[in-house]
Amino acid sequence: RALGLGLAGSAFFALARDELPDKIYDVKKGLGLLTRNEEEKKQRVVVLGSGWGALSFVQRLDQTKFDVVVVSPRSFFFYTPLLAGVATGTVNFSSITESMRWHLGQLSSPPSFLQAHATSVDFANQAVTCSTPRDPATGAPSVATTLDYDHLVVAVGAEPSTFGIPGVAEHAHMMKEVSDSLTVQQRLLSSLEYASALAASNGPGEGEVEREVNRTLHWVVVGGGPTGVELTAELCDFRNEDIAKYFPGISDRIRITLVEGTSKVLGTFSPHISTYAKDALVGAGAEVMTDQFVTGVTERKITLKAAKDKSTSNLEYGIMVWAGGIAARPFTKKLAADIGGEQVLNLGRGGVRGLKVDSKFRVLGARNVWALGDCALSGCAPTAQAAYQQGKYLGRLFRDSGLRGGGEGGVDEAEPFEFMNYGSLAYVGSSKGVADLKMHLWGDDAPAGRGQDNTIIEGTAAFGIWRSLYFSKMLSLRNRLQVVTDWTIGSLFGREISTPW
Ligand code: FAD
Repeated sequence: RALGLGLAGSAFFALARDELPDKIYDVKKGLGLLTRNEEEKKQRVVVLGSGWGALSFVQRLDQTKFDVVVVSPRSFFFYTPLLAGVATGTVNFSSITESMRWHLGQLSSPPSFLQAHATSVDFANQAVTCSTPRDPATGAPSVATTLDYDHLVVAVGAEPSTFGIPGVAEHAHMMKEVSDSLTVQQRLLSSLEYASALAASNGPGEGEVEREVNRTLHWVVVGGGPTGVELTAELCDFRNEDIAKYFPGISDRIRITLVEGTSKVLGTFSPHISTYAKDALVGAGAEVMTDQFVTGVTERKITLKAAKDKSTSNLEYGIMVWAGGIAARPFTKKLAADIGGEQVLNLGRGGVRGLKVDSKFRVLGARNVWALGDCALSGCAPTAQAAYQQGKYLGRLFRDSGLRGGGEGGVDEAEPFEFMNYGSLAYVGSSKGVADLKMHLWGDDAPAGRGQDNTIIEGTAAFGIWRSLYFSKMLSLRNRLQVVTDWTIGSLFGREISTPW
């Protein structure tokens, strides 16, 4: 049997080798698999991004009618709402990630995927230039490739904004990508071992070393929005449930501080929820400093300015995580500048905040270019909920409006996008949550202005809703099973605290 398999394998490779010269020729012409099939005359849709907006768009599109190419430097989709839990080991990173090739492979006519950064768009010739990853073996620089398009869908998201505050980019960790969360997890665990070793080498009250242990064990989160609040909550749980068990000598010296520039945390939720969330975090053992702006950061120190009396103070810290807001990516800014006109007038305090679009996500001033999600100025808050709905809407618009026939199809006649706000949820620690839900009681028949009745739920019930809703919104069964397994293992055996790096 082994001999038979060996012979079959050799024959296969011999045949494959015979095919090689053609394939190489294709590759030279323009990335082999991505060269167009001229006979089919399908319109090409190039989608930039592999996040909420891009994936939901591609899933709703009738892929059999278009030649779809998805381009993103990130080869996987990840479930952002559970990212904070990765930093503390509540869930594994692989439980919230799913390869784009897998997602695309589930579709009736799987689109092509190219791992690359889009770097510029030639609007006149309808072509997008992308840079592919470096050669992993030699580190040779990436190559640029150009894809022509009939329609370009820009869903590149946003990046963390440091608001130009000195030292933030150099010293703070971000909480935006899976890699950020993993870096924070490594820092947390390494700091625990470092502080533990330091404390063991020194009797209590020994000046400098004591101070160094306390500094190392001071974890500061900046930004009182949902990401900052949930990360603070996760850190408190981690300390109270696991670190206390494994690092008994130092766990009570860990300080967790949440710093927020305005007067309340979860400022976009109803006021009652903000107060509840702050109290819950304090109850879980965090310090919550509101009305404090970060004005500068050094390797060991954060400088704060009080909003009220403008007094300044310093916080010594061991780990700082920045969850202070988002801004347009340089690529989005470049597109806005290249389009010019109305796009460059869209200057907020920090410059271009996104691409201006109409109610059907057409980018103003650019033909056959669409933008959605966090990189578009659509009037929606930058949330997964909005990006997902926008992608769904645009996919259906492409499917139903006859765009494939060329030109603008029936886009002008199509109903504009309407965001359906289902509300917001956040985890606030110690198995408590907050839910500010909009109950669309009237369904599709809601008269104007009705059907937005708020329902506020707090505590353990909200935690139950938070877990079940986040679980049900995950995009793959595999991830759902993994997350439930992580939650179960965590509650039975605690979080993983090994440091294998
Ligand atoms: P993204 O999901 O950010 O995707 C952008 C994609 O574009 C990425 O794949 C990126 O790699 C790719 N890209 C970047 N540059 C280029 C380029 N030059 N060329 C090609 N591709 C490029 N929202 C909620 O509604 N509920 C929540 O609970 C929630 N929790 C969150 C928790 C965290 C920690 C974070 C960071 C965000 C959270 N959000 C939440 C917000 C939500 O994740 C974003 O609003 C959402 O991801 C926006 O979707 P998007 O498709 O616009 O962008």
